[in-house]
Amino acid sequence: MQVEFHGAAGEVTGSIHLVVAAGKRILLDCGMMQGSQEAEARNADPFPFEASQIDALVISHAHIDHIGRVPLLVKRGFAGPIFIQQAGADLLPVMLLDSASLAESDAERANRKLRPGDAQVVPLYAREDVEQAMRRVQALPYGEQHEILPGVRIAFRDAGHILGSSITELWGDGKKVVFSGDLGPNGTPILRDPEVIAQADLVLMESTYGDRNHRDRLDTIDELGRIFDQAWREGGNVLIPAFAVGRSQELLYWFALHWDDWQLSRWKIFLDSPMAAKVVAVYDRHTDLFDADAQAVWKRKPNPFQLPNLSITESAQDSMAINQVQGGAIIIAGSGMANGGRILHHLKHNLGRDSTHLVFVGYQAEGTLGRRLVDGAQWARIHGRDYRVNAKRHTIGGLSAHTDQRGLMSWYGGFTAHPPLVLVHGEDKAREALAGEIGERDGIQVQLARPGMVLQV
Ligand code: ZN
Repeated sequence: MQVEFHGAAGEVTGSIHLVVAAGKRILLDCGMMQGSQEAEARNADPFPFEASQIDALVISHAHIDHIGRVPLLVKRGFAGPIFIQQAGADLLPVMLLDSASLAESDAERANRKLRPGDAQVVPLYAREDVEQAMRRVQALPYGEQHEILPGVRIAFRDAGHILGSSITELWGDGKKVVFSGDLGPNGTPILRDPEVIAQADLVLMESTYGDRNHRDRLDTIDELGRIFDQAWREGGNVLIPAFAVGRSQELLYWFALHWDDWQLSRWKIFLDSPMAAKVVAVYDRHTDLFDADAQAVWKRKPNPFQLPNLSITESAQDSMAINQVQGGAIIIAGSGMANGGRILHHLKHNLGRDSTHLVFVGYQAEGTLGRRLVDGAQWARIHGRDYRVNAKRHTIGGLSAHTDQRGLMSWYGGFTAHPPLVLVHGEDKAREALAGEIGERDGIQVQLARPGMVLQV
């Protein structure tokens, strides 16, 4: 068996790895590079392999940095099957159609600025490409071994990162490789903990937070309750930029759990996102994948998605109506880093009031409006206009969907014979720190994946 590393091999986004086994070529993930404009421009580059020569694609989970180039792969000639866990398969079209419409509007905007003689900008892919890709999807349950190609078997295990996220076990040529995908922290609400696997001939493990440990989730949650109290006393609105998958649902889960002690019945709560509404429907179809605590919470009435004062707003009209609310509203909207989406409209209407509370519950990347607000900007530029920021800002750490150094070390420690380990999906600083810790503990040489690196198993 041979493994080639092509993406997410010295950075966090753009996950793609190629396994050659039983004479077949199997791609693990086909993600998009995200972040700076330069990184995103690279998504249109040719793949470092021939798309039509790939026999099968195996997807770990439905985050764009793991699936974002799947429609492009199909558009460029990939004609094999696509394997993903069942709940992941339900999230896949929601995420990819959103990505296609972003690509289309980016291209439209670029084309409006063309000068005579410039070539038209073509979107990376379109809706039809997503539909073509979806026809190739075969959804698999967790835990079942499946022969995906002659001589090649896989099984998905719960990775506890987002709904339907998988650790992939892959067997071929008498060897077994395990790809962690993205691993969630133990104790993430709603999701089960990542499954521990005992045997492998090679392990590919993510390392996003390889150099640090998270704060306790429960401390974080108490802080959220205190912010709501303060905001209520001041008569303001609370704005929470949040990703449509995972974080939004987790927040509603905490709301249901703390309904009484946070006195949430006095608030109006809005989940203002057409995408989050679709994701909520996927969660509702897969409650069997929830952990035991969440199963119990979902048996109560109302469940976190049916809170009596919760409005999940889909239409633009309903979203705009929220702008009339001057106080007493908790508004959750995307994007999670406030660099687009409906949260921008709410920011425009609320930033000027000092009774407004902005709560950041996720990582805010360099260059985003979210980061500028966290860093204390007095003015926010939104849709070409500057808005004065009088709102109070709060940054809540500890709600990560990725496990930390301790969690990564403990997951790898579950393998009994210290199999060779390659770190992917992390910046060098994080990977080097983690490689050092594991190397010292287990007496092994940990490798950091580099683009173009090839390993024989
Ligand atoms: Zn992910």
